[in-house]
Amino acid sequence: MDKLARGVVYFEDEVFPAERKAYAALASGQAPHSLVVTCSDSRIELTRMTQTIPGELFVCRNAGNIIPPFGPHSGGVSATVEYAVSVLGVQNVIVCGHSDCGAMKGLLDPERTASLPAVSAWLQNAERARAVVTATGPHASEAAELRLLTEQNVIAQLDNLRTHASVAAKLATGQLRLHGWMFDIGRGQMSAYDAQANAFLPFRSVYAEHLEEVRQ
Ligand SMILES: [Zn+2]
Repeated sequence: MDKLARGVVYFEDEVFPAERKAYAALASGQAPHSLVVTCSDSRIELTRMTQTIPGELFVCRNAGNIIPPFGPHSGGVSATVEYAVSVLGVQNVIVCGHSDCGAMKGLLDPERTASLPAVSAWLQNAERARAVVTATGPHASEAAELRLLTEQNVIAQLDNLRTHASVAAKLATGQLRLHGWMFDIGRGQMSAYDAQANAFLPFRSVYAEHLEEVRQ
């Protein structure tokens, strides 16, 4: 707790005064451009990875970056998606998975979550990814299998997103784009889902067009 307490005091005394103007602009409203759905994992920090500042990203985090499909029993994730898309009008929804994901390891090896009823029930929302990995095996190594599962989970959650009425409406009118990302913690590198190639490719090749815009 010492670290957290000192951090808050440092923020109040040192960080905030330097950013007072930015926070004043944010005090009465937000207009984030993107919703990020990512894992609760402590090593994933999308604000840092994308070099964004408070007010830019609307974030939903849970074990395994899962978005249950739209249905009569909507929960917190569905409400967050609906609010971000319909009220805040985000232009992008990014689903970001990551390497060494505990949730994905649990999905691969159900024994790991046998004594965790809430986790195993939650992971059923990613069962489709596991089915794809099982059907296409055996795989070269456990690491390759985990990577494929994590990627397939991002793809499955992108599909689940499309079942949400708010998302479908904005996609139909071209006001929203969906993105699948995967962060490799050890390498510090992001890869991105390329729908045409149906594969995760190096981030800078998938978004080359946007990087060009920056350079001009
Ligand atoms: Zn994770």
